[in-house]
Amino acid sequence: MRRQMHNDIQELRGNIRVFVRTRPFLPGDKQTDESPIDVTPDGESLTILDRRSGSPLDFNFDKVFPPSAGQEVVFDEVSDFIQSALDGYHVCLFSYGQTGSGKTHTMQGCGNGPMRGIIPRSVSKVLDQARAMNKQKWNFTLSASFLEIYNENLKDLLTSMQQSNEKSTSNSNNGSKKLSIKRNREGKSFVDGLTQIPIDVGDSHLGMQQLETLMGVASRSRSVASTKMNSQSSRSHSVFMLHLNGYNEDSGAIVNGNLNLCDLAGSERLDRSGAGADAQRLKETQSINKSLSCLGDVFNALATGASHVPYRNSKLTYLLQDCLSGDGKALMFVNLSPTTASSGESVCSLRFAKRVNQVELGKATKHIQYSAKGQR
Ligand code: ADP
Ligand code: MG
Repeated sequence: MRRQMHNDIQELRGNIRVFVRTRPFLPGDKQTDESPIDVTPDGESLTILDRRSGSPLDFNFDKVFPPSAGQEVVFDEVSDFIQSALDGYHVCLFSYGQTGSGKTHTMQGCGNGPMRGIIPRSVSKVLDQARAMNKQKWNFTLSASFLEIYNENLKDLLTSMQQSNEKSTSNSNNGSKKLSIKRNREGKSFVDGLTQIPIDVGDSHLGMQQLETLMGVASRSRSVASTKMNSQSSRSHSVFMLHLNGYNEDSGAIVNGNLNLCDLAGSERLDRSGAGADAQRLKETQSINKSLSCLGDVFNALATGASHVPYRNSKLTYLLQDCLSGDGKALMFVNLSPTTASSGESVCSLRFAKRVNQVELGKATKHIQYSAKGQR
């Protein structure tokens, strides 16, 4: 058991990446030039001017994208990770950062053209690859789910598509039913009752149309919910899931991979989000803080080789447990806003990311104590 745990951690160290992406200045920003963030030409480190101390802070990561890096450049760097899902890995990409820093732009982007983000590009790549692998007698089936975690509750964003869909798992779900995370016989986590929409592998045009339809449904479902709960999407985590099942006709080999693309809730501190104004807001903020700090605690436990990794402390980490252990691969995008007003939040995000990066490098030692709340 311990040995297994050790192997898991070793494996994980090679399988966590941290990428930083700073968005360009936008017309709505109060400041429009001279960012406190400076990306070095090698694309692996950055310097940020810390407003509090007035001195520059240096950070190194696997990859640091300058504001000029477009969607295609960014996707090129993650496409190997996407391929791993077809190889049977449990793969997770997160986007972490304060509201307005570019998390949704990175994950979802907009339109069908050059501004599209990682979700549509990944599905397109998986469709192409699955068809290419068909020559080696691989048959893949794909399906997608989309859920939201709000106040530690899971919400299916695709329930309205369920009538026309036969692939949803057991307990039929009318939208109001609470979803729960369960373990299957192989010990892998799944969300009981979550809608799974099939995506056609044989015809990539059709497959992409199916994706577009379900993204539209998810987005409408999110906005309806946000009005009802007086909440914004920045206060919940959204997780797009692609389930990949492959069967090789020659060898009889089977692979079951999945790709989770998580747009995390805004990481900004309590006071700036206006929390405290009412009980609902306070509850939301506490949930966000809790799940983001649980994510930090999980990475910290992995980095220090702790015998207990607290996956079950939040829905987010419990849901993504398979990606954060054994045959998992995780990549965290840290999104930054280029403005001076945001530099305090940017420093917080970079410190969080630095701890995550230490898991990958295996540099962390037992004296590192980490909690997302502690650094704030
Ligand atoms: P978040 O999801 O972190 O709250 P968004 O992704 O919604 O932030 O980004 C905020 C705004 O900035 C959006 O209008 C988005 O289109 C724009 N934006 C973010 N990143 C970029 C980028 N790399 N290039 C151009 N515009 C961007
Ligand atoms: Mg967003």
